[in-house]
Amino acid sequence: MKILITTKYIDKKGWYDYFSENSKSLFRTLFYHKVHYGLRFIKQNVPQIEVLEFPTWEQYCRTLAQGWDVVGFSFHTMDWPRILPMVEQAKKAKVSQVWGGNYGVLDPVAAPHFDRVFTGYCEQALAEIFGHKIERLRHPPLVDQWYIRPSPLKVQRVGIIQTQRGCPLNCSFCQTPAFAPGVSTVPIESVEEVLAWYRKNGVRWIGVYDEHFGVKKEHTMKVLELFRKYGLFWTAQTAAATALANLDLWRRHNLMGLGLGVESFDCRALAAWNKSAKTSQTVREVTAKLHEASLYAGGYYILGHEEATFASTLEEIETLDSLGLDFVQTTILTPFPQTPLWEHLEKSYGIFEKDRGFFDTKHLTWNHPAMSADQLEKLLYYACLRLNRPGRFFPFMARVFGAYAGHLGSYSRALALALSFPYNSLRFNENAPYFK
Ligand code: SF4
Repeated sequence: MKILITTKYIDKKGWYDYFSENSKSLFRTLFYHKVHYGLRFIKQNVPQIEVLEFPTWEQYCRTLAQGWDVVGFSFHTMDWPRILPMVEQAKKAKVSQVWGGNYGVLDPVAAPHFDRVFTGYCEQALAEIFGHKIERLRHPPLVDQWYIRPSPLKVQRVGIIQTQRGCPLNCSFCQTPAFAPGVSTVPIESVEEVLAWYRKNGVRWIGVYDEHFGVKKEHTMKVLELFRKYGLFWTAQTAAATALANLDLWRRHNLMGLGLGVESFDCRALAAWNKSAKTSQTVREVTAKLHEASLYAGGYYILGHEEATFASTLEEIETLDSLGLDFVQTTILTPFPQTPLWEHLEKSYGIFEKDRGFFDTKHLTWNHPAMSADQLEKLLYYACLRLNRPGRFFPFMARVFGAYAGHLGSYSRALALALSFPYNSLRFNENAPYFK
């Protein structure tokens, strides 16, 4: 059976840049999202399947013309306006079946368009189609190339790793509990295989992309030992309470910094979202500890909870600024299908937005009782300007350098390491291969 799995199409060189969505500063980090982590996991573990990452429309049509039994789409809710015409094109091309996967298929608007949908991580289900069982899930090399704007120079190769999948918490705005309930671990042999490859191939910075790093304690400990064994420096996203409980341990194992969910300062919002009322206090404590150790702290924040007004949101932005986070991802409260938040907002206020392209957490999609879409989107723009200003970026860079020096035991070793990054970016192929 010939199976192709693809992502949404993009405009020529229209790769997603996470940092430009959150920072309006001339000086910032930049990386184009060219590697689709989920698709590469599939290809690594089910090599019979072909994958196509972020094609242009023309590339997609050319690939479709090669003839496929199945075309599958991996997408998020906001990708739907681009996925739908791709699905229609596949049907026109007489593909026998179209399949859907990833968080996007939780949406009842999207799901009926597919002959088969896969929720959750689906390598095993795909392998079974070819009559085999995955004995050990392998982790493919996933390398992103980072730049520092406005310089066009390649600065750092960043290796992505996933050590655990899913999250045991139930934040009411989050789709993870519906997508991947429970927590599973990626086999430690596979984690070691990819970390060893990173070290050999000029990657020293590791981004841990677990939904919630540190949940499985024993497994996390083994991963930490591997970071130290291979001399890799790492960063992860996690809950503030998990960070606080583990900070000293993680610091001793080459931690560079953390992304922390602040979410809100308003206790009513935190209660409605099933978050602890102490979250922001814990983030303040963790941030201070990280900064003391010259490690960076990033944060995630949601504007526009139902009690918020224009004036109170301006105050929230100032309070958020006072945390001194090095980088903040600010979003607008967005309901996603199959979350308790969706049901609540739909029932209490109504979700007016029909275009799924606006469910990107940067637009207002429901009837806020006190603010218009225009007001909230202006506040978001202001927050991006205010929080991620150049005055925050340069201390962040100094912290990163200080963290390398701390872990390596001297500033000269840190300098030698930093100088090797651009060289390694030129020396190694940007597109990482799969393991044989
Ligand atoms: S902690 Fe993060 S991943 Fe877990 S449910 Fe909350 S938002 Fe989702």
